[in-house]
Amino acid sequence: MKAHDGMYIGGAWRPAAGQDTIPVVNPVDEQVIAHVPAGTPEDVDAAVGAARAALPGWAATPPAERAERIAALRDALAARKDEIAGTVTAELGSPLPFSQAVHAGLPIAVAGSYAELAASYAFEEKIGNSTVLLEPVGVVGAITPWNYPLHQIVAKVAPALAAGCTVVLKPAEDTPLVAQLFAEAVHEAGVPAGVFNLVTGLGPVAGQALAEHAGVDLVSFTGSTAVGRQIGATAGAAVKPVALELGGKSANVILPSADLAKAVNVGVANVMANSGQTCSAWTRMLVHADRYEEAVELAAAAAAKYGERIGPVVNAKQRDRVRGYIEKGVAEGARVVAGGAGTPYDKGYFITPTVFADVRADMAIAQEEIFGPVLSILPYADEDEALAIANGTVYGLAGAVWAGDEEEAVAFARRMDTGQVDINGGRFNPQAPFGGYKQSGVGRELGPHGLGEYLQTKSLQF
Ligand code: NAD
Repeated sequence: MKAHDGMYIGGAWRPAAGQDTIPVVNPVDEQVIAHVPAGTPEDVDAAVGAARAALPGWAATPPAERAERIAALRDALAARKDEIAGTVTAELGSPLPFSQAVHAGLPIAVAGSYAELAASYAFEEKIGNSTVLLEPVGVVGAITPWNYPLHQIVAKVAPALAAGCTVVLKPAEDTPLVAQLFAEAVHEAGVPAGVFNLVTGLGPVAGQALAEHAGVDLVSFTGSTAVGRQIGATAGAAVKPVALELGGKSANVILPSADLAKAVNVGVANVMANSGQTCSAWTRMLVHADRYEEAVELAAAAAAKYGERIGPVVNAKQRDRVRGYIEKGVAEGARVVAGGAGTPYDKGYFITPTVFADVRADMAIAQEEIFGPVLSILPYADEDEALAIANGTVYGLAGAVWAGDEEEAVAFARRMDTGQVDINGGRFNPQAPFGGYKQSGVGRELGPHGLGEYLQTKSLQF
């Protein structure tokens, strides 16, 4: 596949400072499809310098003009939606229809929402005898993962640009090609030089250099809790704000009055989408003991059907990690009712959609983020026990509640320690705040709450 052999810095593709490259591998057939440069601290330094130089001009650009550039970016992405979908399918392995609908469709919608918000957001408010100015935080270091590679880029870059910030992006090493494509779209959209900069590279080298750079005013990170903790500590030591979108272990709570078949089928689809690589996936299904076996049978059948449509996981390390969890679940005494740790094909990083029954809340498969197509079904005796299980992990990113009527579901959702809850299968809303309670993160992305992360306040008294 087509790849740039340089970094996008200061409005142009520049040669990388070092010679090393990173291979990009197609997870379906394990073939190397491209190489991108492995960024060094020198590349990061050049990118931060360009972002800092561009900051005063972009911060002073009227919001309506910033909105025009973001609308042009949305249009540039929309014009390339087939190329985006094909690129994500090649480097992440997700089936093409999912890449078209979600990996290409969602970031276009999010970019569009920020084009509108940049134009309409109140960057000034009155409180008594004060005028409060909402000003850009400055230079943003954005570090993104591979699971929704373009969405996670747009969910950081679009609000940062809307706020008047400038950005240096370090995308995941597994999915750098769609990030290069995004940089091309930014260029086509006429965003001024230096406002957006891209450095590809390894996390512990380029990512860490960006997170530690004195010229970065805010780090926005999505990825593992382990790296998030480290980035939070670095930011804390430098007294800088940080936004962390980390892992999850969300509960899908099916109350006795719910439509069981619908709740189970939607629940299985939610976990299997994107090969289980969704931080907000409802990987624990909680079912009343009276309907438990019925739910297990429905879930096993649904997962078996999903097997024909699922893509691989991103790389060999993730495949081995997910398989390790499946083996651990068996060793801990859970019952495999669909899938298992076996290999479905002799090539590619595939995992068969797997469903565990007889899962106890203290098992590793019920506590830790697996990040693969693996669902655990847990029984509960009453609502209090369901709530204790739902809230009984270190995470609090998402969740779902199903009940015969919405009020009953909402009453349960109010007691959940989590950042978002879907009621009776409510649709994903790309403008609603997205982020976690507890160790699932700090801060919110998307919509006006996401824009607020990139602003700081100044009060003028009259
Ligand atoms: P990761 O946290 O290592 O990588 C995410 C991003 O951080 C990448 O761009 C990476 O290059 C960068 N990075 C890695 N080490 C860094 C460091 N020391 N300093 C700065 N940046 C660094 O995640 P991973 O290894 O790709 O995935 C491991 C696990 O993380 C997954 O199994 C899953 O549980 C979790 N994960 C969560 C999400 C999410 O959306 N919340 C996304 C991807 C992965």
